[in-house]
Amino acid sequence: KERDQTMEKRIEKRRIVLLPIPVQGHITPMIQLGQGLNTKGFLITVAHGEINQVNHLPGFQFLTIPESLPMSQIKTLGPVEFLIKLNKTSEASFKNCIAQLLLQQDNDIACIIYDELMYFSEAVAKEFKIPSVIFTTASATNQVCGCVLSKLNADKFLIDIEDPEVQDKVVENLLQLRYKDLPTSGMGTLDRYLEICKEVFNRRTASGVIINTSSCLESSSLSWLQQELGVPVYPLGPLHITSSANCSLLEEDKSCIEWLNKQEPRSVIYIGLGSKAKMESKEVLEMAWGLFDSNQPFLWVIIESLPEEVSKIVSEKGYIVKWAPQSEVLAHPAVGGFWSHCGWNSTLESIAEGVPMICRPFTGEQKLNAKYIESVWRTGIKLEGEVERGGVERAVKRLLVDEEGAGMRERTLVLKEKLKASVRRGGSSYNALDELVKYLNTE
Ligand code: UDP
Repeated sequence: KERDQTMEKRIEKRRIVLLPIPVQGHITPMIQLGQGLNTKGFLITVAHGEINQVNHLPGFQFLTIPESLPMSQIKTLGPVEFLIKLNKTSEASFKNCIAQLLLQQDNDIACIIYDELMYFSEAVAKEFKIPSVIFTTASATNQVCGCVLSKLNADKFLIDIEDPEVQDKVVENLLQLRYKDLPTSGMGTLDRYLEICKEVFNRRTASGVIINTSSCLESSSLSWLQQELGVPVYPLGPLHITSSANCSLLEEDKSCIEWLNKQEPRSVIYIGLGSKAKMESKEVLEMAWGLFDSNQPFLWVIIESLPEEVSKIVSEKGYIVKWAPQSEVLAHPAVGGFWSHCGWNSTLESIAEGVPMICRPFTGEQKLNAKYIESVWRTGIKLEGEVERGGVERAVKRLLVDEEGAGMRERTLVLKEKLKASVRRGGSSYNALDELVKYLNTE
């Protein structure tokens, strides 16, 4: 018993440093992971930049790393160039931050867990001889794609993947995915994308990889990673099911819940295209007409201000907010479908509430997630080509009114139950978290 108590005391004092990339879709799951580890007895320090801070969580310590590259440059540089530059310029300030933390009394750092895109952290962890673990906020399949592409490129086997002739071909060794499904579009040139892949998906000296996914969603990708990576893989998601942390960077407009309360069960299409999507005004107008013609009520998250014509169309059957409490919306009984850009968090949140989807991916891994939603889990439909009102109307009806949509909802509900089971005691995600904790305690 005495030994147990000493052990508990030791665990209580152990600190984990988390290093998220400061954008919504990455901060939220990182903080949720921190909450999970906090309940297992670890002290949590979140090291983050000067903007987009979430710093009001009980039991968490927050440290500001002076910004080496303003986040605003993500728009001017594009995501890949931004990341490459960020990683080149951030090491020194993170090193200072860890050095200061180590100077403080009692600070025994058990591990640095960093977002896979913040790969400069690896050198810092190594310098201080602190174990490190990578955290992936995207799907396991996205990681498989990155690894396979890097390998094909290194072996000089990579063909011209932008050639329209090869788009429908299945990529060698890649889970029946075709070149057109790969998460490469909108990421700048292929060479620069591959440069990032080489850094992100080359495991270097990290001791493991945590993925916000569940084995019931991506078992073949996870088996592939478990075999190929040579370090333990911890699929312990979806983290949002077990965490109550609200990490919204924008103020949530809760008035939409009152509006939802007045709608029929499963009648509403919820439209949320992520924190970064921007749409052309012509597309917005076509969407508005299509939604109006579908005759279903709709809740639309739209950051841009709307032209008067659109506001008029919308005011009859729709409700607009600038930022919604998304998890609450998806859990609401009035919501029957989710029109999404298919970011990985939105995908997990939708499945976890049993809500089928209309997929309208913009870039990168969103396309891959859409492919899984439509063809692997068969819990949604893809809206391809130009947005025009007839197509929008048909897609909404297929999802909310037709038999086809009922089938998708049924399959989503089955997955919902599997996800819930995976995070319950004895489930695969529950066990993966336990394995991670065991590892952290032995370090
Ligand atoms: N989100 C939200 N309110 C909104 C729109 C989005 O709370 O009105 C949240 C959503 O629940 C998700 C995150 O923002 O957790 C978006 O992450 P995702 O990976 O889906 O997309 P990203 O913004 O990273 O492209």
